[in-house]
Amino acid sequence: MIIDIDRLPKDGLKISKELEFFPESLVEENAVFLKPVHAELTVNKTGEEIFIKGKVTTCLSFVCSRCLIPFEFPVDSSFDLVYVPEELEEMQDHLGDEDINRLFYCGYKIDIKEVVLEQLNLMFPPKLLCSEDCQGICPVCGKVIQSGECACETKSSDPCLGKLKNFMRDKR
Ligand SMILES: [Zn+2]
Ligand SMILES: [Zn+2]
Repeated sequence: MIIDIDRLPKDGLKISKELEFFPESLVEENAVFLKPVHAELTVNKTGEEIFIKGKVTTCLSFVCSRCLIPFEFPVDSSFDLVYVPEELEEMQDHLGDEDINRLFYCGYKIDIKEVVLEQLNLMFPPKLLCSEDCQGICPVCGKVIQSGECACETKSSDPCLGKLKNFMRDKR
């Protein structure tokens, strides 16, 4: 869905839409959409600046990076964006730090689907875990520790040591 900036109504544009994306368009591998993405957006224009306020909701499935079990990740997130013409990108060095969140459009068009996709990708936490204290996979038997399937007695009952192990695992 492409917005023609020249044709934006004076009092703005409201968009309420279900968007379908291919999971391959996400930065996160092994992600699956469990629902279509619902986007509520308002697009306003002031001079050359385009303001997009929006809210996206959906539900994804990710694979936990510790135990490798898929888990649901509901998304309900808002964003507030400012787009300026691409020509201003060269001048960005002179705009100062406060303008660091500006985005750029080119050819007087903005693809709403791309805007939403970009925001979705930004919403994902850097480390995808089914739960903060996921114990991951037992280094001895290879089973998931949390599900209680693992019967190995690990000598390290010290919780601090366990945390350190997870920390080391995450650093890989
Ligand atoms: Zn996990
Ligand atoms: Zn085990």
